[in-house]
Amino acid sequence: MKRIVFTLLQPATLALIVTFWAFIPAALLEKDWVITAISIGTLLMVQGLEFVNERHAGWRLNTREFLTDLFYTVLYFTVISKVETKLAEEPLGSAKHALGITTDWAMHLPFVAQVALALFVMEFGQYWLHRLMHNSFLWWTHAPHHHITQLNAAKGLVGNPLELFLVSLSVIAIFDLPLTAVFCAYNLTGAISSFAHANVRFYTPRWYAFFFTTVEAHSLHHTVGFAETRCNYANALILIDRMFGTFRPGEAEIVGQDERRRLAVREQFMYPFKPLMAMIKGNAAI
Ligand SMILES: [Zn+2]
Ligand SMILES: [Zn+2]
Repeated sequence: MKRIVFTLLQPATLALIVTFWAFIPAALLEKDWVITAISIGTLLMVQGLEFVNERHAGWRLNTREFLTDLFYTVLYFTVISKVETKLAEEPLGSAKHALGITTDWAMHLPFVAQVALALFVMEFGQYWLHRLMHNSFLWWTHAPHHHITQLNAAKGLVGNPLELFLVSLSVIAIFDLPLTAVFCAYNLTGAISSFAHANVRFYTPRWYAFFFTTVEAHSLHHTVGFAETRCNYANALILIDRMFGTFRPGEAEIVGQDERRRLAVREQFMYPFKPLMAMIKGNAAI
């Protein structure tokens, strides 16, 4: 019975999310808090699964990990997502109107196609930004996420705030799409990312793992050697890694960087300034 449940859980959750947003009453959609509440509810559900079918005892949530995850979850939903709306989404929407850009055709697609389009646009941008982070100075913003030494449902939200802001950027505001489709895609990426970071033993169907990022694929991305992290970049749509030749099969139990030293929140916040501070110290020594 447990095996059936943990085989069907991921696809069933995604189907439920799509159905929910397809039929959400207009009165509920108007409320600002609905998307936040549904996203947090999805995250809590995945977190709860860790206590039902654990993947690795070494990834078990303890008080210190729980408090860190809670801190970043609150930070994301209260600050980062709001800053992203104000600094990126709204200006992009205004620029679109000012320039007279329209993608009217997108409004006439079936709901599922609109969701698929939104999901692909969000994930395509995130894939390239994430890949760039592993191959440029932007690594200094992303490294704290790779210093986590265990995976849990909310660990996708743990990292340097600058990185969390950068990876939440998207050009989705360019497209004319109903809010329900955009919220649905956002909710789906959140759910898949939680599944891919969760300490849960899923028996994932092969077809699901072909399209969507799983904890196997993402744990491999969190593996210890830096060179080995350069694969499986997609947050939710692993299909994009397959398209661009960066997919690698396998999984990892031992995760982290730099001898697996766990960073405190203060170190996670200061990490991108490390090269600058090293430079200043170097100059002072001269
Ligand atoms: Zn990464
Ligand atoms: Zn991750």
